[in-house]
Amino acid sequence: NDVLKLEGIAKTYNPGTPGAVEVLRGLDLSVAQGEVVALVAPSGAGKSTLLHVAGLLDTPDAGRVVLNGRDMTLLPDRARTEARRREVGFVYQFHHLLPEFTALENIVLPQLANGVADGAAKARARDLLGRVGLTARADHRPAALSGGEQQRVAFCRALANSPALLLADEPTGNLDPATSDRVFDVLMTLVRETGMAALIATHNLDLAGRMDRVVRLDRTVPAGA
Ligand code: ADP
Ligand code: ADP
Repeated sequence: NDVLKLEGIAKTYNPGTPGAVEVLRGLDLSVAQGEVVALVAPSGAGKSTLLHVAGLLDTPDAGRVVLNGRDMTLLPDRARTEARRREVGFVYQFHHLLPEFTALENIVLPQLANGVADGAAKARARDLLGRVGLTARADHRPAALSGGEQQRVAFCRALANSPALLLADEPTGNLDPATSDRVFDVLMTLVRETGMAALIATHNLDLAGRMDRVVRLDRTVPAGA
């Protein structure tokens, strides 16, 4: 039961110009429900491009992006955006929380955008904060939280709308090793509890080894070709 299925994905930046950069070619990748896949790639190999294509933020030049059995490449932009909001959660290396809102509000807002009622959205946010051990931080703004706490709030925000797919780009890359380890455990527990599919890019081979499967991305084209 594949939540995400990428088939024959190709992506070139600035095609047909001297500055053309072929990043992905013939890429196939699937992530099943409940599966946590590590994406390991040398810098510049196209990890971010792949996550953007998988998360419907960017469209491939060729190939299919199938989410929960639905071919997203055939959808009009609006429907694709809607599918992204409902079915995909993103976590980045830097938390990107809204600084003027509290931890709780940062988790409530994406739910309101999806039409969830205020009371239900707050209840969901409190439940998520409890699961990452941040009940006491609900009313703090991001600047008042440590780096590890900020990332845990970002995880809650990514999961706020119960997406089927979690995409993460170096989710603990900004933290010191000990904090990174702890925060990664929190993320894994959350993902396991929800049974979502996850694709998590990391340079940390120790963390990659704790996931179900490792996918390596190599440069399809030598730099400068
Ligand atoms: P990674 O995340 O693995 O470091 P990226 O997906 O960000 O790699 O980028 C892959 C390659 O594509 C790099 O060589 C990068 O310079 C190039 N690239 C990324 N985005 C663009 C863009 N918008 N225009 C041109 N080249 C780009
Ligand atoms: P860490 O030990 O993860 O590096 P810090 O030393 O930054 O974290 O902060 C330690 C604790 O103090 C964290 O729980 C953090 O939430 C809290 N804290 C830091 N700054 C503030 C602040 N301005 N207001 C309230 N709590 C804060």
